[in-house]
Amino acid sequence: MRKRPQVVKLICEHCCPFFKEEKTEGSACQGFVFFNEYLNVERIEEVYSIVRKEMSAWHLVDRSFMYRILCRRCPFLMGGCDFRDPEYQGESVPCGGYMVLAELWETGTSWPKEILSKLRGTQGTGNARKGYLR
Ligand code: SF4
Ligand code: SF4
Repeated sequence: MRKRPQVVKLICEHCCPFFKEEKTEGSACQGFVFFNEYLNVERIEEVYSIVRKEMSAWHLVDRSFMYRILCRRCPFLMGGCDFRDPEYQGESVPCGGYMVLAELWETGTSWPKEILSKLRGTQGTGNARKGYLR
């Protein structure tokens, strides 16, 4: 996967508590992948304007819904994400992509809903994203 630099800047550097400058290469969580694939360049400023304040929607958004659309296909789910680890006892927060998507969802931003709806529409077509929102 080619990481788009503008998306790394927005989702990882600006919004993710786990961001490390020296680790911008290599694997990425599903929260990042969602925005890397579907965030149009024209929408980047709009997203910045929504996430400039302190983000709190991740506390409110339905966790099982977020699991279905992001976490269940995340390479960090097993052993790499305290937030999703049922054994973890300490305080934990989700990745930047999860936080930003929760924020857009709770503020009623329409394009993530449109994308997810399109992905859902690909079920049964043989498309690689078949079953995205099963
Ligand atoms: S956990 Fe995800 S959002 Fe955070 S820095 Fe890594 S790839 Fe970016
Ligand atoms: S919250 Fe954890 S499991 Fe879910 S997408 Fe982010 S890194 Fe992956």
